[in-house]
Amino acid sequence: MKIFNDQEVWLITGSQHLYGEETLDQVKRHSQIIAEELHKSDAIPVSVKYQPIVTRPEEIFETLVRANQKDNCIGVIVWMHTFSPAKMWIRGLKALRKPMLHMHTQFNRDIPWDTIDMDFMNLNQSAHGDREFGFMASRLRMERKVVVGHWQFPKAQMEIGKWCRAACGWHDWQGAKFVRFGDNMRQVAVTEGDKVAAEMKFGFSVNTHPVSELVAKVNAVNDGLLQERLKAYEERYAIADALKVKGSQRDALIEAARIEMGLEAFLAEGGYKGFTDTFEDLEGLRQLPGIAVQRLMAKGYGFGAEGDWKTAALVRAMKVMGKGLKGANAFMEDYTYHFDPEDSLVLGSHMLEVDEGLAEGKASCEVHPLGIGGKEDPVRLVFNVGEGAALNAALMDMGNRFRLLVNEVEAVSPRASLPKLPVARVLWKPLPDMETACKAWILAGGAHHTCFSQNLDLEILEDFAAMAELELLQIGKETEIRRFKQEIHWNEVYYKNVERIN
Ligand code: MN
Repeated sequence: MKIFNDQEVWLITGSQHLYGEETLDQVKRHSQIIAEELHKSDAIPVSVKYQPIVTRPEEIFETLVRANQKDNCIGVIVWMHTFSPAKMWIRGLKALRKPMLHMHTQFNRDIPWDTIDMDFMNLNQSAHGDREFGFMASRLRMERKVVVGHWQFPKAQMEIGKWCRAACGWHDWQGAKFVRFGDNMRQVAVTEGDKVAAEMKFGFSVNTHPVSELVAKVNAVNDGLLQERLKAYEERYAIADALKVKGSQRDALIEAARIEMGLEAFLAEGGYKGFTDTFEDLEGLRQLPGIAVQRLMAKGYGFGAEGDWKTAALVRAMKVMGKGLKGANAFMEDYTYHFDPEDSLVLGSHMLEVDEGLAEGKASCEVHPLGIGGKEDPVRLVFNVGEGAALNAALMDMGNRFRLLVNEVEAVSPRASLPKLPVARVLWKPLPDMETACKAWILAGGAHHTCFSQNLDLEILEDFAAMAELELLQIGKETEIRRFKQEIHWNEVYYKNVERIN
């Protein structure tokens, strides 16, 4: 059983008729063996399906158009076993709308020193056949992933697997719907953006519904089901005394559960994959949704606070990409700094909405006043987050393009119990160091809202950015500020000029 058991990638092998039918039969057999082996690999989380080998322009076009039309085909892996003259691929590649991975491999791992002859040479021509194909893809200015190595190598399979995860995230965005309750937080810049451009580029739509429609769902929650939800809270969390039965603020917990159920019903009925809200537009809701959002994020919904639809969509895609891996992908905000020269840290959190998926140990369910929004005290889950390698990713609208910015970080254990902090929190050290990372982030116009990931790495996001034809800037171990500034400047020129030829 594959982690993404509904999704498949196709292995498409290119060849030609120059070497006779016997060679083509061998090409076919080899391609079937490779597809089966990749399918069996635990490193690859989707099905790998063999496709009939392609040897003529018509076959190439027909196969790639079929890939476009097959909804659960999330991408194509192409490989040239023999030589496949690449002008044959132009029409097909121009039509291809699915992500492409070019696997530069060879059926035989080794040269058979004692028996190698021209038949072997003509069959095992990937070394130059794939170069011919690579030229065509570059000539068409196509973004794609190139994986090099024998197809049985664990590293090659791992790289294919990461690309598959990215392709699943990309596939999930196509036709996805995100709902905004209310608009953007007043005067905030980075959470704004061009929703038409985003839909054209990324495939998801973002539309607003008035909070009153959500309120109607909240008010319609069934009382029996509401009691069950409260029981689920009681089993799962350490409930603060005030929220217990007969506690002084029990009503707040009941209302929080009601909001969660109303939100969940709205999202399910509308087929939404994520949502935003804003504390400036809560008319009819008694609390800003806190625990509701925390739990819905842990269930897989994307979320962005203060109307931040780009982050909501990014969080959703990253949750999909991380499916089945240990750890979570979560809405996050760089909140407060610890500028100790010996132990510089960022404290990440939000005023309420920290994804329960990050919780280390049992979360405590608490109620505290909230200084903004003018509503009743909201219920929230409070917890710490474990240590380990992680990253923050942010998506910004730069005017002429969207930019994905990624900073690799090291999450660290809590330095103290923070008894007075009424929100979940995570501490991290940005790479390469606090000063460089923050400087680079700010120079790149990085948002304050991010998706914090415990289980995706830069390679997966690079693959994702290539599929989306999205600018990617990375801040990590090797980042050096002068070079990073140049990269920003060079990219300005690149994105004014590059255009895929189709
Ligand atoms: Mn915020």
